[in-house]
This record gives sequence, structure tokens and C-alpha cells, in this order.
Amino acid sequence: MENEFLKGKKILIVEDDLSSRLYLNKILEKAGVIILNAGDGQEAVNVAVNNPDIDIILMDIQLPVLDGYTALSKIREANKDMVIIAQTAYGLLGDKEKILNSGFNDYVIKPILSQNLIEKLIANLKQK
Ligand SMILES: [Mg+2]
Repeated sequence: MENEFLKGKKILIVEDDLSSRLYLNKILEKAGVIILNAGDGQEAVNVAVNNPDIDIILMDIQLPVLDGYTALSKIREANKDMVIIAQTAYGLLGDKEKILNSGFNDYVIKPILSQNLIEKLIANLKQK
């Protein structure tokens, strides 16, 4: 269902696992989001730097080339204010604190449920 708040927003999905990426694309497409994709950390940095109008980045932590933390810090060098939400695997103890201390705005725990994701995106957009 199209979402009044998310419709037309630009979101970069950073995910190396193809089925997870397709799943996230499907959820956001239905909500009416304009989607960009990156499959590794370096690609995420390139896309983010070239698209300063991105509203939110949904960043996997475990990524090839550059991991999510490194990609985050490189994006922050170019853009301090971009909203960047980490995707983290369930049960990785200590991740939550590390993620927030590293400068992510927020995090979602995998497996990601559609409704949780939508709510989290809206909450972060409202804080912008
Ligand atoms: Mg991954």
C-alpha cells in the first residue's frame, strides 16, 4: 500500500544479499519510495556522495569491500546530516551500542518486518 509519508522519498538500500535486497525493494516500492541500490560498502559511498538528496540510507553492516561502519564514516565525511539506519542481524550482542556510537541515526534488526521498517523510516524522517 502506498504510504502518504514515504511516497516520493528517496531511499538508498545497501545490501549484498540479493534475496534480502529484493525483499526490501518490494516493501519500499509498494510504499511509493524512489529506490537506489548498492551491493557493497564502496558502492554505497559512491551513490550517497553523488545523490545528496537521499532522504534515508538503509545500510547493512556486513558488506563486501567496505563494511557498514567504514562506509558510514566515509559518507559522514561528505554529508554529516544524512539519515543512515543500520541493518543488523538479530542476536549480535553489543551491536546496538556500537552502531549508535558510530554515528548511525538508528538501526533495524533482521529479519526485517515490513511494518516495523515503515514505522522506523517515518519516525526518522519526522526527526529530520
Ligand atoms: Mg550483508
